Amino acid sequence: AAKERGDGGYERYRAGMEARGAELNRRAAALRTAILDDQMVVFFQPVVTLPDGRITGAEALVRWQHPADGLVGPGAFIETAERSGLIVTLGAWVLRAATREAATWPGELTVSVNVSARQLREAGFPEVVAAALRDSGLPPHRLTVEITESVAVGGGATAENLQGLRDLGVRLSLDDFGTGASTLSLLATCPVHQIKLDRSFVPESGGSVAIADAVAQMARAFAVQAVAEGIETAEQATRMAALGYDRAQGFHFARPMSAADMQARLNQNLAQVQSLAPTD
Ligand code: C2E
Ligand code: MG
Ligand code: MG
Ligand code: MG
Repeated sequence: AAKERGDGGYERYRAGMEARGAELNRRAAALRTAILDDQMVVFFQPVVTLPDGRITGAEALVRWQHPADGLVGPGAFIETAERSGLIVTLGAWVLRAATREAATWPGELTVSVNVSARQLREAGFPEVVAAALRDSGLPPHRLTVEITESVAVGGGATAENLQGLRDLGVRLSLDDFGTGASTLSLLATCPVHQIKLDRSFVPESGGSVAIADAVAQMARAFAVQAVAEGIETAEQATRMAALGYDRAQGFHFARPMSAADMQARLNQNLAQVQSLAPTD
């Protein structure tokens, strides 16, 4: 239509498309170099019990240690990774790094890893996970794979892969729960072990808990664990605990931290537990 108007709109549109294509190529090339150059790092954000705040594990969150820009968050590069297909390489790297680290944690601590719809469509994805588990020595039940509702549109090998992951004994979590259009039907068709309420539904002080409450009830009906993410205040922790959330994650408990800081945090916890143990 723009072309017919003869106002050059179509040409401007095409030029815009080409510029955006070139920009994606440039960003993807930089990201590919960074992955090869070992500039990606995995941070860990503790997941705690409610209401008492004991650490049960952590979520692995990727960052880019950029030589000029410093530590860059995933918001700045995950979309590039997905659109260029680099997420398949990056995601496999995160899985290996996260399982290797978690295998050094004491007891039954778990690690959650975010997996994009694109990775889940690739035939053979369960073998990528199995190899990471085998090489790290982490038992399958200590790994949770976080997926978002975009997997519902699926395609490719998605359904087989979800079944393959369940067969491995890995746990599945529905991330950012409530933000998609198909949350309810997805729960019926894709059995998971856990749902994570998106932090946009964790109310500010005095705000309504209607959605958080409804999701907690849904979790009970489907017998899945409910996690509240983005907990920033003690009041939010108390309210979510009262609604029946089993687990929480958020700045109130701990920010995402380096693997070394996570180790220090776990050692500190262990020392506390040991100092409480009866001496005979
Ligand atoms: P997500 O999986 O929902 O991760 C939670 C995000 O919320 C993290 O941001 C975390 O730092 C942030 N967060 C945690 N607690 C709080 C809080 O109390 N307040 C606020 N305001 N924010 C909080 P981050 O690390 O920037 O990650 C953003 C998203 O990037 C993740 O959302 C996930 O979708 C994606 N992502 C991160 N790492 C990976 C990865 O290895 N692979 C894939 N495919 N996606 C990843
Ligand atoms: Mg997540
Ligand atoms: Mg989330
Ligand atoms: Mg999110």
